[in-house]
Amino acid sequence: MFGRTSAFVCRSCQRAQRDVLVPRRKGVENGLRRYATANTRQHPLQLAIIGSGPAGFYSAYRLLKALPDARVDMYEGLPSPYGLVRFGIAPDHPEAKKCSETLVDVAKYPGFNYIGNVPIGDEDRQLPLTSIAPHYDGILFAYGASKDKRLGIPGEDLKGVHSARAFVGWYNGLPEYADLNPELDVGDTAVVIGQGNVALDVARILFMPLEELRKTDISEHALEALSKSRIKDVKIIGRRGPLQAPYTIKELRELLTLPGLGFVPPPEGWDALLQVETKKLPRQLKRIAELLLKGSKTPIEQAKNAWQLGYLRSPLEFLSSDSTSLAAIGFEQQEYVTPMMELLTGEPQTDLNTLRAAKVKGTGRKGKVSASLAFRSIGYESTALPGFEKLGVPFDTKKGIIPNDRWGRVLSPDRGPGADLTAGHVPGMYCAGWVKRGPTGVIASTLDDAFTTADVIVNDWNKNVKFLGDEQEGPSEKRGWEEVKKEAEQRGLRRVSWQDWEKIDAEEVRRGKEKGKEREKCRSVEEMLRILDG
Ligand code: NAP
Repeated sequence: MFGRTSAFVCRSCQRAQRDVLVPRRKGVENGLRRYATANTRQHPLQLAIIGSGPAGFYSAYRLLKALPDARVDMYEGLPSPYGLVRFGIAPDHPEAKKCSETLVDVAKYPGFNYIGNVPIGDEDRQLPLTSIAPHYDGILFAYGASKDKRLGIPGEDLKGVHSARAFVGWYNGLPEYADLNPELDVGDTAVVIGQGNVALDVARILFMPLEELRKTDISEHALEALSKSRIKDVKIIGRRGPLQAPYTIKELRELLTLPGLGFVPPPEGWDALLQVETKKLPRQLKRIAELLLKGSKTPIEQAKNAWQLGYLRSPLEFLSSDSTSLAAIGFEQQEYVTPMMELLTGEPQTDLNTLRAAKVKGTGRKGKVSASLAFRSIGYESTALPGFEKLGVPFDTKKGIIPNDRWGRVLSPDRGPGADLTAGHVPGMYCAGWVKRGPTGVIASTLDDAFTTADVIVNDWNKNVKFLGDEQEGPSEKRGWEEVKKEAEQRGLRRVSWQDWEKIDAEEVRRGKEKGKEREKCRSVEEMLRILDG
C-alpha cells in the first residue's frame, strides 16, 4: 500500500525520516530508486516554490536529492528566508530553530535559486502568479498561513486587543509588526483567548526573566518594552475543558516551572473540570492532568507573577469604558454536552480521540474578566493567492487549505467522483505544509508532509504525468527566473539572492554578538537592503 523512502536526519529534531509514506496506487507506485524512466521530456524539471518556510525548504531538499538536475526557484516575499522558523518559534526555543541549519544545506544545490524580496500577488510591487506560471513546469505552494483567525465578536479592534500572531511577530522581528507596541504598561492583567502552544508561548515571553531573554534573538524593541511591562497576571482562557486544550506537555511544563511564576488553580476546582480520575485517562492526558494538579514550582504565595488557565468560557465581546481601549472581556459559560466519564470506554486511543473531541454548549450564564490587554490565539489561517482562479487552482476558504489529494497534488475543482488520481489534479500544481493540511503540527510534521509532496512531484515527473503547459505546442523547456526577472525588474522589484541573504545574516549575527546575543534581527526590509548597499 505504501512505499518507504530513504533516511534523512533533521539536525534540529535529530529525527531520522525513514517512514515518509507515499501512495502506492495504480499508476503512482513509489520508491525513489525505482522511479522508472517513462519520462520522455528532454529537459529538467523547472519548479517554482512559493514560500521559504520549512515546507518549501524541505520539499526543495527532497526533490533536488531525487532529481539533481532539476531547477528550483524559491520565491519569498521578504528578503529573509525560513518563514515561521525565523518569525514563529519563540526566541527561548533555539533548539527548534536549529532546523534552519538543515535548511541552509538546500542552498548548496546548484539547481536551487533563492528569490527573496519578491512577493507574489497582484498589488503594486508584487509579481502576479499568472506571470510566473508560463515559465515553469510546476508550482509548489508552500506559503503557509499568513493570517490569524478572527473571533468575529464586538470590540475586536479596540486598542489593547491583538492577535497572538502579531505579538509573536513583534518579538521575533517580523517587519510587518515592528511597530505593534502592545499595551504592556497600561494595566496588570492580560488575557489570552485560546489554549494552544502559541497562547503558552505568549504567556511565557511575558514572564520570562529578562536576563534569559536578553541572550536570545528576541528583538531589541521587544526586550525594551518587556522591561517596562506592568503585566503581573495572565489568564489563558479556553472554550472547552482541560482535557480538550491543545497545549502540549513540554510547553505546559515550561510555564509551570518558570522562576517566580505561580499557577492559580481554576475557581471551579479540578474535580469539576476533569470529572475523571487521572488513572483512568489515556497516558497523554493523564500526564497533562497530573501536571495541572501538581501546579507550579513556585508556590503562588511566593510568586511575583501569576497565571491561570480558565476553562469552559467562550468569548462574547471585548468591552471598553471609553469606546477606544479594552477594559474587559465578556464570556459565556459553557458546559460539557456529555460528562467526561460517560465518554470513557477503557480503550486508550479511542478515549484519547473522544475526550479530545468532546463538545461543549453555552449555558446562557455570562461573566467578564477585566483586562487592559488581550491576545486572540485561536489559530492561523491560510488564504488563496491572487491569480488562483485564473490558473484553475481552487481554495477551500472554510478549511483554509488548497484542496489536495493528501499527497500534495492540487485537486481540480471539476474532478468527477472516482476520477483517476492523477487525472483529477490540476496539472503541475502541488502544495505542502500548512496551506496543504491546515495550521497544525510542529516542524517535524511539516518535514514529513513536505517530503511526501516532493516524492509525489518526482514520481509524477518521472511517470510523464501532465505538468504545466504540457498541452501547448512549441519549445517546452521552461526558463523560470531567467524569464521572470525581466517582469520583476519592470515592476521595480529588487531580488535578494542567497548570497545577499548571507550578507544580511552575517550582519545580524555581528550586531547580536555586540550585544551578547545570538543575533539582532533587522526591523524592516529597508534595513536589510541597506546592509546590501553598505
Ligand atoms: P491551536 O493549537 O489550534 O489552538 C487554538 C486554540 O484556539 C484552541 O484552544 C481552540 O479551542 C481555540 N479556538 C479556536 N477557535 C476559537 C473560537 N472561535 N473561540 C474561542 N476559542 C477558539 O493553534 P495555535 O496555538 O495557534 O498553534 C498552531 C500550531 O502550531 C499547533 O499545532 C501548535 O502545536 C503549533 N505550535 C507549536 C509550538 C511548539 O511546539 N512549541 C509553538 C507554537 C505553535 P478548540 O480546541 O475548542 O477549538
